[in-house]
Amino acid sequence: MAYVVPPPAVVAIPVAGGDDSFPVRRIICVGRNYEAHAREMGKDPTREPPFFFTKPADAVVPDGSAVPYPPETKNLHYEIELVVVIGKEGFEIPEDKALEHVFGYTVGIDLTRRDLQSAAKDLGRPWDWGKAFDNSAPISPIQPVSKIGHPAKGRIWLSVNGAVKQDGDIADLIWSVPEVIAFASRSIRLKAGDVIMTGTPAGVGAIVEGDKVEGGVEGVANIAITIARPQT
Ligand code: MN
Repeated sequence: MAYVVPPPAVVAIPVAGGDDSFPVRRIICVGRNYEAHAREMGKDPTREPPFFFTKPADAVVPDGSAVPYPPETKNLHYEIELVVVIGKEGFEIPEDKALEHVFGYTVGIDLTRRDLQSAAKDLGRPWDWGKAFDNSAPISPIQPVSKIGHPAKGRIWLSVNGAVKQDGDIADLIWSVPEVIAFASRSIRLKAGDVIMTGTPAGVGAIVEGDKVEGGVEGVANIAITIARPQT
């Protein structure tokens, strides 16, 4: 048997401190997981069940990238997020076993075409074109649990051209990492290679070509990207 077109390459994120890398299966994102961000998006931050959207594996770009300004938007937003990567398959994972499925943690930016996302919300359409575009998931090298444990608190921040725009703490996640894993695994079987972006704190905003975007989660990882001229 032969493939009729070349099969897609495995997308991989480097594991910090060595030559190993983590193969990405898909990216699962949590919506509105910090109260102040839910409020800034015009939503009531009561503890409704978490909800999810996804990005394709090949939306990943490495730390240090020059990310082309994406097409079809005039309102590209940054969202700094704690990222959890799954190392062990599971379905209906109980909360008290959830962390056993985590290989490691890092930080990423959920780049968002906010104008397309807002239009989709208004029209009752899917969010995909606002969220799941090319290069929409800059993600830093992964820190294995064996090295950093399971971070439950620590500053999460993002700056644009040196000015701090987002400044929160991962202790303020509405749904904690074990809760997110438990909820997601009731709807889908989580598998090794799955990447979970856990949501962003308040302070999201627009970026344009030439901007330098830096961020991090204290005790986990930092990330820096620049926004480059549109792709051709
Ligand atoms: Mn997000």
